[in-house]
Amino acid sequence: MSRDLREVVVVGASLAGLRAAGALRDAGYDGRLTLVGEEVHLPYDRPPLSKALRVDDLPLPDDGLRAEWRLGRRAVGLDSRRRVLTLDDGHTLRYDGLVITTGAAARGWPDPHVTLPAGVFTLRGKDDTEALREALGAARSVVVVGAGFLGGEVAAAARALGLEVTLVEAAGQPLERAVGERVGAYIGRLHQEAGITLRTGRTVTAFHGGERLTGVTLSDGTGIAADVAVLALGAVPATGWLEGSGLWLDDGVRCDAALRALRTDGSPVGSVVAAGDVVRWPHPLADGEPVALGHWTNAVDQAVVAAGTLLAPERPLPFDGLPSFWSDLHGVKIRSVGLPGLADEVRVIELDLPGRTLEACYLRKGRLVGALTVNRVRRLAGYRAQLRADLSAGLPAGLSAGPSAGLPAERSPLTGDAVPALP
Ligand SMILES: Cc1cc2nc3c(=O)[nH]c(=O)nc-3n(C[C@H](O)[C@H](O)[C@H](O)COP(=O)(O)OP(=O)(O)OC[C@H]3O[C@@H](n4cnc5c(N)ncnc54)[C@H](O)[C@@H]3O)c2cc1C
Repeated sequence: MSRDLREVVVVGASLAGLRAAGALRDAGYDGRLTLVGEEVHLPYDRPPLSKALRVDDLPLPDDGLRAEWRLGRRAVGLDSRRRVLTLDDGHTLRYDGLVITTGAAARGWPDPHVTLPAGVFTLRGKDDTEALREALGAARSVVVVGAGFLGGEVAAAARALGLEVTLVEAAGQPLERAVGERVGAYIGRLHQEAGITLRTGRTVTAFHGGERLTGVTLSDGTGIAADVAVLALGAVPATGWLEGSGLWLDDGVRCDAALRALRTDGSPVGSVVAAGDVVRWPHPLADGEPVALGHWTNAVDQAVVAAGTLLAPERPLPFDGLPSFWSDLHGVKIRSVGLPGLADEVRVIELDLPGRTLEACYLRKGRLVGALTVNRVRRLAGYRAQLRADLSAGLPAGLSAGPSAGLPAERSPLTGDAVPALP
């Protein structure tokens, strides 16, 4: 372990920050440890916030970190050369090692000149969900803008509360870019079966209402009455505070394979590592192209590797964690492994709408890069093993087995029939 490390500061006191701090202590780091977090809350879990709009019983355990907490405090500046961090109350913190885990913020309405009426929400943290829940309690109808995972989950939760829900999506199908057209269409059907009105290929062009929202207009000219709107337009990495720090900011903090933050000239800053949603790093599944992931497991896995890199800078280990993601929607379990969004070909192996099951695998240049299942969790194991083996071998995914070798044919493993298109 580096003997020079006596002061470690973690900026961003949520999942990745907490896990990085825990990993430092687990590895024997006994110096000073400070966690700076903009939210006033101790670290908590975000996935339940959109699934059942739950805000209770979410705390993440801190397992006796012996840490100094600076909560409700935002980092506003970093001098990476002098190793000094500035907080929003003017205080400065010196560090030997810095862990950046500031995650991401919900993307707001793209036009800053539009004044949004009260009743338009975004969702990233506990306070957002609390405010949304309260508004939904007094509402009859809601428009969710963006049918990605978060938008879909919020729509499902609002529908389960008995509200009229319209889900608006610019693409042809929900999640089309992330999971492909057919799988997206399948998820769209789940929404429709639950009684959600799905309006794809359209965007919201105007919000109406004075004091409170009364409705929206869509790009096809249709008007929709709504008491509440939720913007689910994706997330933006929280890097504003790093402007002028000398770090390479590129839709995230650009890191090398060992999660060391890079300078704008591409050289690593030995004393600064990053983990979680804020990171953009070269992933072997993407042929070394930098990727950023908003996945729970990625934040946890990266936190451990980033802590290891900080403690042993002379032996940096590459992070090659296999991405995995889950979502629970209308009572079905959606699970994915790898990076389906990179695929140029989707093979749907099984698709059963009434039986609520689906299995699809994702190829890029003929090589496996991901898989997704609905209510078929166990089927992911084979894909995971193949992707894992390819990553461990240090080969491009799928190469060890030959292009797409060993992949199931596009036939239902249950009936042997060709998988049908969605009706
Ligand atoms: C509603 C919701 C549902 C989700 N559901 C799933 C799911 O089902 N499955 C899944 O795999 N993933 C899910 N995710 C994603 C998962 O929660 C994230 O990947 C994870 O929270 C990332 O952790 P993080 O610590 O990197 O970032 P965050 O959890 O975003 O934490 C970053 C923290 O840093 C703080 N911060 C930001 N800037 C500053 C600053 N300048 N100074 C101090 N503090 C700062 C923020 O306030 C925040 O507390 C969901 C996310 C959300 C929001």
